[in-house]
Amino acid sequence: MNAIVDQLGRPIRDLRISVTDRCNFRCTYCMPKEVFGDDFVFLAKNELLSFEELERLARIFAQLGVKKLRLTGGEPLMRRNLPELIQKLHDIEGIEDIGLTTNAVLLGQYAQPLYDAGLRRLNISLDALDPELFGQINGRGISPELVLKNIQKAQDIDFTIKVNMVVQKGINESEILPMATYFKERGITLRYIEFMDVGNDNGWSFKKVVTKKEIYDMLAAEFDMEPAEEDYYGEVAKRYRYVGTDAQVGFITSVSESFCSTCTRSRLSSEGKLYTCLFASEGFDLRELIRSDKTDEELYEVIANVWRGRKDRYSDERTEQTVKNRKKINMNYIGG
Ligand code: SAM
Ligand code: SF4
Ligand code: SF4
Repeated sequence: MNAIVDQLGRPIRDLRISVTDRCNFRCTYCMPKEVFGDDFVFLAKNELLSFEELERLARIFAQLGVKKLRLTGGEPLMRRNLPELIQKLHDIEGIEDIGLTTNAVLLGQYAQPLYDAGLRRLNISLDALDPELFGQINGRGISPELVLKNIQKAQDIDFTIKVNMVVQKGINESEILPMATYFKERGITLRYIEFMDVGNDNGWSFKKVVTKKEIYDMLAAEFDMEPAEEDYYGEVAKRYRYVGTDAQVGFITSVSESFCSTCTRSRLSSEGKLYTCLFASEGFDLRELIRSDKTDEELYEVIANVWRGRKDRYSDERTEQTVKNRKKINMNYIGG
């Protein structure tokens, strides 16, 4: 079978599934509490795709060429019985890798069941080690201690862990070096993420971005680093090894060095819409289709056609400064 490629020749390799739009944090850059307050209406249960529906879609995506799945949200661990979904996805032919992105607050309780269901990789988000600052950023006053304890627990169970830190100018730059030191000592890869203009509510501007170069220069003044080899085609992180150790550090440079030309990622939002770019304004409603009497073959063709028509290269356009005020999907629906 010929590989399905989009208008720019990019194959489909990854599917990110947002399993819920709810979250126990209110990170200022993602779900600010002024917008996601007590009266905010989240999706009802029947508006979310069921585990059976997700499994069916993932199977079809695997036939289209997807090899990697990532579960995200909102906070994916707030979706009930998540290990059951991992188990179902783990058994799908063609899926080589499943990851989960989480704020780790509920990980103490779920780490072992997730591992037992077949999950091996975790991306854990943590933006500061300073308790007051972290409490402010997460909007719930939750302490980093709990996250760090759960990271330790997951490491003891033998998960492969990466920690992601979103860096915002004037907010948490002071945490760049303490975070590097902490995770270097524990042999965990820390990845610095450039603050992105996702969604419509986070007050983004170029001025709030701390670029990879700025962060790299801060680290290089403290540590000896050497470039690490790319792991696979389209890897988004640029990684470096601390010389003489196995510990690595990475950068996700969506703003300063965009990587649309090798972007193989598709996204399924919590209400079952397919997005072909993190910054898309429109999704393709798969929930309606999957709840109609369409066969798997028909669904395959529909999804293949959406991918064949894909032209997205938003971050490249941002770099070229050719995009203006586009309305975008919010991060808690699409999951990063
Ligand atoms: N709740 C989970 C978590 O925080 O890990 C999963 C969903 S969260 C939307 C996925 C990732 O997107 C997190 O690492 C988060 O820090 C990142 N993120 C959210 N908004 C962002 C923004 N404006 N720029 C860069 N990264 C962002
Ligand atoms: Fe929740 Fe993750 Fe968004 Fe923070 S980044 S509000 S933890 S979904
Ligand atoms: Fe992929 Fe869109 Fe991000 Fe470019 S902007 S790397 S096309 S998700």
